[in-house]
Amino acid sequence: MDRPLSTEIYAKACQLIPGGVNSPVRSFQGLQMAPMIVESGAGSVICDADGKKYIDYCMSWGALILGHAHRNVVRAASLQMERGSSFGIATAVEVEMAARIADLIHSVEKLRLVSSGTEAVMTALRLARGYTGKTKILKFSGHYHGHSDALLMRAGSGVSHLNPTATSQGVSRAVLADTLCFPFNDFETIRTFFRTDPLANELAAIILEPITGNMGVVFPAPGFLELLREETTKIGALLIFDEVITGFRVHLQGAQGLYGITPDLTCFGKIIGGGFPLAAVAGRREILDCLAPLGQVYQAGTLSGNPVAVAAGLATLAEIVQPAFYEALKIKTDRLLGPIREIVFRKSLNACVHQSGSMFSLFFGLRDVTCREDLHLLDSQLFGKFFRHLFQQGIYIPPSPHEAWFLSSAHTDAEIDATASCIVSFLTSL
Ligand SMILES: *Cc1c(COP(=O)(O)O)cnc(C)c1O
Repeated sequence: MDRPLSTEIYAKACQLIPGGVNSPVRSFQGLQMAPMIVESGAGSVICDADGKKYIDYCMSWGALILGHAHRNVVRAASLQMERGSSFGIATAVEVEMAARIADLIHSVEKLRLVSSGTEAVMTALRLARGYTGKTKILKFSGHYHGHSDALLMRAGSGVSHLNPTATSQGVSRAVLADTLCFPFNDFETIRTFFRTDPLANELAAIILEPITGNMGVVFPAPGFLELLREETTKIGALLIFDEVITGFRVHLQGAQGLYGITPDLTCFGKIIGGGFPLAAVAGRREILDCLAPLGQVYQAGTLSGNPVAVAAGLATLAEIVQPAFYEALKIKTDRLLGPIREIVFRKSLNACVHQSGSMFSLFFGLRDVTCREDLHLLDSQLFGKFFRHLFQQGIYIPPSPHEAWFLSSAHTDAEIDATASCIVSFLTSL
């Protein structure tokens, strides 16, 4: 496919920016084609530098639940920009945002706003250690929690392209020595750890994506979240839900609302910024109060709680709290996935669809996925073919086989039907 301007911009980008991108997954690694250079977006459609249009199922990695350039979000952000875009001083809108989130999420009594999911998670770990006085952190392989040092071990998302252990160079061994990493949904390993390993007593927190997005959509096995809740409570460690993707996505109350589990801390990001850089670390009052200036755990940020991002976020939250917002989004997503599920079933394809509300994955080469370790069977070759097929038809999905896709309220039935038939015709030809 001819994309002369995109190719030219990408070539220049490669001279100036490592890999031509400011975040690795944008580079279309392993897909044997030049990455997309986007110029604009409106609703569910993005337009590239060559003027070609695509229905977008990446939606800024899930941040845009209302689609691109939603009218109310644009208006709220523009109004705030006219009144000044950054002060480094507290504003009333930040308090409004805190109140909104605390109202909606039952585990949240207090929160602090930051600028990225990475920062939210980094702060959550520091808080967990400050509050408990312990040092070890337990995570799960294939889960991605941003790019802070302690968590770049057997991580999901773009990190999984690095090397067999998906561990970044440049992270000190001393830091990683405090991180434990287990397979997701492995009850026996968790039980044995808490029953027999002396390190359990040094555990400050368990952190996880309660439903993963960063190795594709993978669910917690029934009882797994309950087990983690129980064991952490017993030994006085914290349970941290990284809901940077799932928060306000899978349910208005996030994965914790869906499963009825109350974490001690929750990280939010993506959707709460309405397409601007905003995230939050949130949870129990007595834990959050360990943060400076009240406590001795330090965290700060020039642009933390930036009023433009907060205004865009508030405008987004105002839409998603409308009655039946999530039901409507689920119906749209079912409309897309129904025909895909049917062909997978009818042709008995070696593939599976995992869906939670409006986020979902289509895995090739596997009939089920419960943990990162299952994903070595993933058919990346076939995914590449699939991706290029859709791209040529003007459909953009996340450019990696282990990422989730996202639907927005802006996707129309006609776009959804066109996408479904394009996917079905690809699957039929297999
Ligand atoms: C995106 C993501 C992060 C990192 O957020 P950034 O804003 O990219 O730093 C952390 N955790 C999860 C679960 C994410 O999906």
